[in-house]
Amino acid sequence: MNLEKIMTDLEKKHPGEVEYLQAVREVLESIEEIYNENPQFESAGIIERIVEPDRILTFKVPWVDDSGKVHVNLGYRVQFNNAIGPYKGGLRFHPSVNLSILKFLGFEQIFKNSLTTLPMGGGKGGSDFDPKGKSNAEIMRFCQSFMLELWKMIGPETDVPAGDIGVGGREIGFMYGMYKKLSREHTGVLTGKGINWGGSLIRPEATGFGAVYFAQEMLKTKNQDFKGKVVAISGFGNVAWGAALKVTELGGKVVTISGPDGYIYDPDGISGEKINFLLELRASNQDIVKPYSYEFPNAQFHQGKRPWEVKCDVALPCATQNELGKDDALALVKNGVMCVAEGANMPSTPEAIEVFQEHKVMFAPGKAVNAGGVATSGLEMSQNSMKLNWSSEEVDMRLHQIMKNIHEQCVKYGTTADGYVNYVKGANVAGFLKVANAMLDLGVL
Ligand code: NDP
Repeated sequence: MNLEKIMTDLEKKHPGEVEYLQAVREVLESIEEIYNENPQFESAGIIERIVEPDRILTFKVPWVDDSGKVHVNLGYRVQFNNAIGPYKGGLRFHPSVNLSILKFLGFEQIFKNSLTTLPMGGGKGGSDFDPKGKSNAEIMRFCQSFMLELWKMIGPETDVPAGDIGVGGREIGFMYGMYKKLSREHTGVLTGKGINWGGSLIRPEATGFGAVYFAQEMLKTKNQDFKGKVVAISGFGNVAWGAALKVTELGGKVVTISGPDGYIYDPDGISGEKINFLLELRASNQDIVKPYSYEFPNAQFHQGKRPWEVKCDVALPCATQNELGKDDALALVKNGVMCVAEGANMPSTPEAIEVFQEHKVMFAPGKAVNAGGVATSGLEMSQNSMKLNWSSEEVDMRLHQIMKNIHEQCVKYGTTADGYVNYVKGANVAGFLKVANAMLDLGVL
């Protein structure tokens, strides 16, 4: 594989798509060795085919706010690769959304979905719409307008979107309602649905739970567990709250959460009632980080800072991409962090990952750690197809087993000569091999 030539060609074709190019480079670097050992991949043009999405849909989303003013946002769906199953991946509503970010997320999703062992291809979508500060009625009108375009492209056997940043149960509900009306069908076309209309138990907390199950497996390799461990978490959204809940349940102490404006440090631990307080604020679309520090006086708010400066044993970045840079990584290492598991997608910069790996800190990437979310979406699809509901114990047991399997695959493909597990390599190689072999079987498409 001529990695530099591939990257130079891609940069020419997609100038300025920084996040997408960063994600592609990381995967190619990891799989270079295995790719070169398998000349059949080169002759089938697997790399050239896997780095470009099958197709991208871009559309306008007009909607009317409560004062009668008309707004227009952009909507996207990137259908990246469906070699092993229908396209599957979340929808993100955030002002920063652009094609580079959605292509990076869709590309990552191919390998993540492959790792789950479930039959799901990779895709991603969303809009530059900002749900923050909008009324319920405004969010409903936006979601309905978004689905009015998207519904033609998706289907339970074609492409099954889900939530992501800015898209939780409420938004999925409004979009699913519109899809149901347009298609005249009640099918598993979206996951993350409400429990009364086709959703799966445990799905809301699945990504966070899965991330902690994965980190638990990492700790186990050093004969350690979460008991008594101090844990720093960033964000407090779909992923972070499930993670905070599970860490607490396993005996760890979560000392931070964060938002775009800063982080909270609570030396007493963020658990129980405090998590419920945060969830109530979140449900009513309010800021959560600052109000927490007013409610619980021992907690301190650090304006404009990230949580990686606090002393912790385990760090779980659960907010957004590139939120943990080289200096943050150096601070974590200096403070004795032993395990970093990415709940978010690509939260650590390549320079930060290098720091962790150089210092032999256990580090695992989002595509392995947060795969529990999409895996449980896969379980929701199975339940929808069978028209039955599993108990929370059953879903949780399956999720736990899937996370253990993903960890095993990372160890199998990522263990280096000195015994250190390079989880980045392990996850990329395991995820890639399955998709690449399927592409070989299916012919040039
Ligand atoms: P949410 O929108 O629910 O939560 C994101 C959280 O991060 C919010 O608390 C948000 O604060 C905070 N945040 C946003 N930007 C920043 C920033 N620059 N610095 C610090 N905090 C910030 O999103 P999700 O929890 O769904 O997603 C989080 C990450 O996990 C994303 O990378 C996503 O792709 C990934 N992921 C999500 C899955 C899921 O099931 N939802 C599955 C797999 C991966 P505020 O609300 O104040 O903006």
